[in-house]
This record gives sequence, C-alpha cells and structure tokens, in this order.
Amino acid sequence: MTVSLPVADRAQVRRAALEEILADRWTFVLMVVLNALAALTGLAVPWLVGSIVDTVQRSPGLEAVASVDRLALAIVGFTLVQILLSRYALYVGHRFGERTAARIRQRFLDRSLALPASTVERAATGDLVTRGTADVTRVAEALRNAFPEVFVASTQALFLIGAVFFLDPLLGLLGMGSMVTAVFALRWYLRRAREAYLAEGAANSSLAETLTSTASGARTIEALGLQSRRVDETEKAIQTSRRARLRTLRLRTVLFPSLDVSLALPLVGVLVAGGLMYQNGLVTLGTVVAATLYLRRLSVPLDTILLWVEELQASGASYARVEGIAAVPPAPPSTSDVPVDDRIEISGARYAYEGRKDVLRGIDLDLRPGERIAVVGASGAGKSTLGRLLAGLDRPRSGRVDVGGVPIADLPAERLRRQVVLVTQEHHVFRDTLRNNLLIANPSAENARLREALATVGADWVGELPEGLDTRLGVDAHTLDGARTQQVALARVILADPHTLVLDEATALLDPTTARDTERALAAVLRGRTVIAIAHRLQTAHDADRIAVMDSGRITEIGTHDELVASGGAYASLWRSWHGG
Ligand code: ADP
Repeated sequence: MTVSLPVADRAQVRRAALEEILADRWTFVLMVVLNALAALTGLAVPWLVGSIVDTVQRSPGLEAVASVDRLALAIVGFTLVQILLSRYALYVGHRFGERTAARIRQRFLDRSLALPASTVERAATGDLVTRGTADVTRVAEALRNAFPEVFVASTQALFLIGAVFFLDPLLGLLGMGSMVTAVFALRWYLRRAREAYLAEGAANSSLAETLTSTASGARTIEALGLQSRRVDETEKAIQTSRRARLRTLRLRTVLFPSLDVSLALPLVGVLVAGGLMYQNGLVTLGTVVAATLYLRRLSVPLDTILLWVEELQASGASYARVEGIAAVPPAPPSTSDVPVDDRIEISGARYAYEGRKDVLRGIDLDLRPGERIAVVGASGAGKSTLGRLLAGLDRPRSGRVDVGGVPIADLPAERLRRQVVLVTQEHHVFRDTLRNNLLIANPSAENARLREALATVGADWVGELPEGLDTRLGVDAHTLDGARTQQVALARVILADPHTLVLDEATALLDPTTARDTERALAAVLRGRTVIAIAHRLQTAHDADRIAVMDSGRITEIGTHDELVASGGAYASLWRSWHGG
C-alpha cells in the first residue's frame, strides 16, 4: 500500500521562495540595484537618438553637427557602461541562483533523511527518487539560468515601459493597450500551466515507479508469470505520461504564437498614433522616435521572459514537489526517558494504517525477558504490524507498547537499537566499505568487535576479502551473495546488541542450500535475547516457550505448545491439520 508524498501549495511555495531570498538577502539586493542601474543606462540610448532627431530638425545647419557629435559620443559612453553593468548584474544573478540551488539541494537531502521511516516505506520509492533527482535538478537549472535571465529581462521591460509613459503618457497607453493580447495569452497559459506541469511530474513519477518496481521485482514477476500484466501496466503509465506531456505541449503551442503577435502590435500602434500626433503638433519627432525605439527594444527582454517562462513554470511545479516533503508531519520528538529495565509490555494497543480500520484491535502482552515467543495466525491477522510496533517503527493509535516503562517508538534511534531490533528478510548492503556497513549498527565499535561479530555469524569469508574490513561493497565493487548479505545483517544485530529481537520472516525466503548456515548464525544471534518470532511455519512455533495466536487484530490464545494443543482451540486444530493427527 503506497501513498503519495504531499505537494506544497502556492502559499507554501511563495513562503519558501521568500525564505530563500532572505537567506541570501544582500546578494539579492545587490542584484536588484545592479539590474536597475543597467536598465536605467539602457534607457539613455533611444532618448539620445530622439534628441539627435530633434536637434537636426530644429537646426539643420552645420551648427547642429557639434551637438550631434556630443550626443553620439554620449551614446557610446552609455552603451559601454550598460554593457559593464549588465554583465556584472548577470554574474551576481547567477551566483545568487547557484547558491540558492545548493541550499535547496542540501535541504532536500536533510529533509529526506529526517522523514519518518514509516513515511518513506509507504511512499512510492519512485516518487522520492524523482523529486530528489529530476525535480531538484530542474529547480537548480532554473535558478542557474532562467531566474537570473528573467530577472534582468523583467527589470529592463519595466524600465522601458516606464520610459515610454514618461516621454508621453498617451503613447505609453497606446503601447500598453495593444499588449493586452499578450497579457490575456499569458494569463490563459499560467492558469492552466501549474496543474498541467504538476500532472506531468506526477505521471513521470508513476512511470518511473512502475519501471523500477518491475525491475526490482523481476524475479517474482517471472516466477508468477506476471510479465504481460506488468507490460500492460507500463503501457498504461506511458500513455498517461504521454497524455500529460501532450497537454503541456498544447499549452505552449497556443502561448508562443499569440505572444509573437502581441509583440508586434504595440509597435504598429505607436508608429500610427505617433505619426498622427506629430502631424497635429502634439509631440516632437524625436519623442516618437524614442518611444518607437523603446517599444522596439521591449521585444528583447520580453522574448527572454517568454523563452524562460515555460522553464520557470515547470520548475515552479518541481519546486512545489521538492518543498512538498516539508509538509510531511515530522516524527514526534524522541524522549530522553531511559527505560528502567528490559521488560516489554503491550497494553490495549490499537493500530490502523492511514484512513483504514484498525488492524490491531486491543493487544495485551507482557514479554518475559529471555523468553522466546512465537506469533502465529492467518495471513492478514496483524502479526507483521505487531512486529513493527514492537520494533518502534510505528506507534500505536491508542494503548501502549513500552520497554521499561517508556514507549518504544519514542526512543531516539541510537537508544532504540540497544533495546529492540527487527530482523526481516530484507537486507541492505550500502555502497561503502564493509566496516562502515557494520558501524551503522554501533558507530563506536572497534575492529576487534567487528571481527568478533562477523565470526559469531560464521562469516569466515572476511579473511578472503582483498582489503579485509576496508573492502568496498556494492554492485560496482565487491558483491556479496544473499547468504553473505544476511550474515552482514546479522552481524549488525550483534553489534547493536539489543536485548530483544523481532524476527519477521527472517528465514522464510532463504535459499535451502544456505538455510542451515544462516539458521546456525541466527541461533548465535538469538542467544541470550528475548525473541518474538513471527512464525509462518508451525514448526518454528513448536519450539517456542510460548505461542500467541492472532486472529483479526487480537491475540485469541496464548500458552505453551502443549497447553494450546490440550485446550483444543484454533491452534490445536491447526496443529492437527498439519500433522494429520
Ligand atoms: P500478517 O503479518 O498477519 O499477515 P499484517 O500485519 O501484514 O498481517 O497485516 C494486517 C492487515 O493490515 C492486513 O489487512 C493488511 O492488508 C493491512 N496492511 C498491512 N500493511 C499495510 C499498509 N502498509 N497499508 C495499509 N494496510 C496494510
């Protein structure tokens, strides 16, 4: 059962963006000032050209030459200053973008690592992976390129429009009036874009999820002959992704042409109206020339904005997904209480997966230190869920699951692993040295301890490793087979040295040829600890000190094998049906 991770809403995205700006506010202020100065010097040239026109018109004789020379020299000067300022403004913008991108990436990593384990387990793995790779990259790219470019362009556009209004409000109004189409087109687009790009992101995530789960479950799929079903599912995910992409493409095919047209319209408007106004003596020729040049220049920043607006939209959606994981309710703070002893007590524990009905409906169970207890029951009875509560992975909805008087799930990780550890059939070897793979269970363990733990679980192959404990493990280095991976996992348990172990299907999927070895290693690990074994084979249950029978979220029978067989309840009939007696 997977759930999607949240996506930040507009207000959250705005707040997060504002925080980014505040975090680097002086660079941001410098960027604003430099851009404003660059845009301001950029305004000088059309105005000077207009002045040249007016000068020549007023005094067409030789005396105008000197002033035209001066004006032309000023044009060169302003252009040079503008080039320098623009370059520096863009440089500061890129630096701001890079630094912000680095912070976002870092924070995403920190937040992902701080996500409650149960959230990560339940979230589709493809989702978190896509957010951490494609989405974060997209945001970083946008901050690196789109953001500085658009910022420079917007400042220029604002100053240019302001300048036309300053020259002549009527021409300004005309110029703006014919840009209404651009505004409409942009609004039409923006209103649909966020949702469309979010849908595209989600479709890509789900495609990645389908592909990764097919790849990682390849063996199971082959064994159960599910190939055609997986192919269908992949086809479906591809279709959804294609539809989502086509939708954003359609938005773009409407946006770009309508914007091209709207850029040409203001120019035509000002030329026609300016011409008429000049004929009627309302403006000078120089003013019309300058206004036309301003509007002509407007197309440069507007083109830049258009070029990047799509990128910005898409990255906005990505940013919402990246920021979304901040909305995951954090794991409640861990307690500083120290368990007074090793007793595990469960009383009235109820548990429900999000939005579902209770799967544990009032469990009471006291574990006696050192005892071995087996939990049996039909599939879906809640055994694994009980195991997760005991291991502190989830907390009960009501009731208590305590060790030494402290709720297990409230213990900080480093204290929890000294109390209870869950051993399942899933083992993970990190792409790191064997030493670091072991140290995660006990960061302060010395080499001798590590070797001792490996010896206890029968991992005598360590001597054959090229670099001993420093050998790098993983697909691109030294690969461990299933049995050895399991031994590493068991060695970790020994290093963590918890007083209680929860075994869930720990040996269920073992390769029969190595099962015996692993079982021996497991026996070494279990020695001296309290053990709750979730038993999927009755044989395991038979050897336990006590057996708890679960049915629909409750413990219905508990006692020794002999007691339960004698009582003639559910366990007795199960046992009889298994043994034909
Ligand atoms: P058992 O280990 O006895 O087979 P589980 O504890 O795995 O039983 O499951 C108990 C019930 O909880 C089942 O009905 C199962 O469908 C449901 N369940 C288990 N895991 C999840 C989950 N992650 N989300 C929602 N329901 C779940």
